[in-house]
Amino acid sequence: TPTVVFENVVFGYEKDRTILHGLSFEVPAGSHVAIVGPSGAGKSTIARLLFRFYDPQAGRILVGGQDIREVTQASLRAAIGIVPQDSVLFNDTIGYNIGYGRAGASAEEIEAAARGASLMPLIERLPAGFETEVGERGLKLSGGEKQRVAIARTLVKNPPILLLDEATSALDTRTEQDILATLHRVSEDRTSISIAHRLSTIADSDRIFVLHEGTLAESGSHTELLGAG
Ligand code: ADP
Ligand code: ADP
Repeated sequence: TPTVVFENVVFGYEKDRTILHGLSFEVPAGSHVAIVGPSGAGKSTIARLLFRFYDPQAGRILVGGQDIREVTQASLRAAIGIVPQDSVLFNDTIGYNIGYGRAGASAEEIEAAARGASLMPLIERLPAGFETEVGERGLKLSGGEKQRVAIARTLVKNPPILLLDEATSALDTRTEQDILATLHRVSEDRTSISIAHRLSTIADSDRIFVLHEGTLAESGSHTELLGAG
């Protein structure tokens, strides 16, 4: 069964201006999909609806087969891990930044959890280890390194669905490709939804949804959309 389903979703922030005009799509379990479209197409709105910052005026949204209006906010957040564009790190160790959601966890416990969640390919590419202080007082991380920590922070909680909300859009395309390749390795069996405006982000996706003026302009695989025809 599909993990995330949008079913004829109609939504506008204001009464007289509809943003999503009956949007429907399905994200099969274990697949990697991308939602692309120009600025203003409604991509972030999809993320906000998924987390119930707003509810649609019509249609419904299912996560794991359940209408999200019928599940608790806590279980919704446990089901969907989000990595935003500009992740903020604490002025603390890399280990603390990865494990801060686990109250009272020691550096060793966080490292064990990261190993258990197979996150080492993400972390090994950082210029320093778990105990290294980062931020103002410590090591300055590049944008790409920060996003590696942010992705590890989200994945260490083992959410079945990973939502990348322009998570690599601020990076140069080479760093982006590097991170996406690592992500592919560590997250192969997980469902992932990547929201992006840049086509370079989506090369690895199983299915691509092109959003245009609040509906799906096109959907298909990379070759179907960009190949001959
Ligand atoms: P994208 O992420 O594709 O750039 P958004 O989902 O952020 O697009 O925005 C879609 C449309 O909704 C845009 O026209 C934007 O101006 C409008 N919009 C976004 N947030 C709000 C808001 N809080 N109130 C009113 N309009 C909004
Ligand atoms: P915590 O460790 O506090 O649970 P999360 O990784 O769950 O932190 O992220 C915080 C929450 O912020 C998310 O679950 C989501 O509800 C919300 N959030 C953050 N950024 C966005 C976004 N761009 N769109 C929608 N929701 C967001």
